[in-house]
Amino acid sequence: MTVTELRLYNSLTRAIEPFRPRTPGRATVYSCGPTVYSRQHLGNMRPYVLADLLTRVLRLQGLEVKHVINITDVGHLTDDADQGEDKLELAAQRSGSSALEVARVWTELFKRDLQRLEVREPDVWARATEHIPEQVAMIQQLEAKGLTYRGEDGVYFDTAKDPGYGALSRAKASAEHARVSAGASKRNPADFALWKFSPTEGPQRQLEWPSPWGVGFPGWHIECSAMATRHLGPHIDIHTGGIDHVAVHHNNEIAQSENALGVRPWVQVWMHGAWLLFDGEKVSKSRSHERLPPNLDDLSPLGVTPGGFRYYLYTAHYRSPLNLSGEALRGAETARKRLRAIVRAGAATDAAPTPPSSALGALRQKFHDALCVDLDAPRALAVLWQIADHSAPLPERAHLLRELGDVIGLGLAAPPPAMEDDALVESLVARRNQAREARDFALSDALRAELLAKGVIVEDSPAGSTWRRL
Ligand SMILES: [Zn+2]
Repeated sequence: MTVTELRLYNSLTRAIEPFRPRTPGRATVYSCGPTVYSRQHLGNMRPYVLADLLTRVLRLQGLEVKHVINITDVGHLTDDADQGEDKLELAAQRSGSSALEVARVWTELFKRDLQRLEVREPDVWARATEHIPEQVAMIQQLEAKGLTYRGEDGVYFDTAKDPGYGALSRAKASAEHARVSAGASKRNPADFALWKFSPTEGPQRQLEWPSPWGVGFPGWHIECSAMATRHLGPHIDIHTGGIDHVAVHHNNEIAQSENALGVRPWVQVWMHGAWLLFDGEKVSKSRSHERLPPNLDDLSPLGVTPGGFRYYLYTAHYRSPLNLSGEALRGAETARKRLRAIVRAGAATDAAPTPPSSALGALRQKFHDALCVDLDAPRALAVLWQIADHSAPLPERAHLLRELGDVIGLGLAAPPPAMEDDALVESLVARRNQAREARDFALSDALRAELLAKGVIVEDSPAGSTWRRL
């Protein structure tokens, strides 16, 4: 098979370009990770499936990949405006546990959700609270270059001193900045906090550190710049995130890194996953929806598996918004089941795997080529169906479907969730009931997800909890 040149859409240049890593044979990828104060909803998961598809395709290209995802466990404030409360501190107050415990529980659940979606672990999970010295050092570099100022409540980046600021969204101070600037002690709406001072009155923060500017905590944006540099060096080949990161978070990451490190461009290719729409609206966790956006557990009552959800995400290109509907999800589940049935039927024939005939070999090439044009998953899925419906012998088609399904993490040959014995299920359900009585909803949600991963659904009613197998 021929290795086709990989071309990727770059949000910075707004063009599809050939991908050439800075160091031949090796690619570095940084993905903005979750703020771990609550459950990640389905919209949050889309960028991680994108990052996973990307790293799989890079490896197919024969590249050695180093992938970093960060875990935001401090510094992300409730209103994104460098004001308001730290999301982790607030969740800790509400649940009565420590901020680090809140972070631990939601991080574990996030990782479990990724596993269920067949998203591979990155090479490095980078936690903000474990990289405070790196963040302080980067702020000092910016300070030494005269790019910061001290406001009432923290140290800010002075965007007026950076003529290149805002290149990613091509806006010096966008409407988004005007939205998030209210009430902050800033010179310009686009300026952003690098270090926030701990409040001198009111409740004491749990997460705070000494610094050259006083006791406080880092701003949200500096963590990504500092951690990416620590783990990947001063240049990154590809940086991924959600489309909601472009206007503020990623413009700020660029400003910090390029000025502190003296490199331009810091990132070769910026990639952004589009919105997952929920009832026709953008799904954003920070919005106060009456109804919480659905998460992976909400799929099982619809008869949809995590694998079915991943298939559904592939039905649209990652740069196209996708509207979440029960009908579309069930359609994706059925389609994936049909492909799985072919793979299973092929395996049951006991025929030794054979290399695909020339007709099927051409389809395999077509599948790889589709992925090499800006990760065109819908086109790759269409090729899977051409293989499924081909006149070639069943074992040959089944073998190729299994191989290509594995390439994009569809798990067509994966066994259904293992059955656990009743005693273990009962003990997990009992632990969950105790957690619910203690109003430890984070733990109770984590146990519910653990049971679901074992193929067990728990249903709560005023009379108590019951469970059944999927
Ligand atoms: Zn980030």
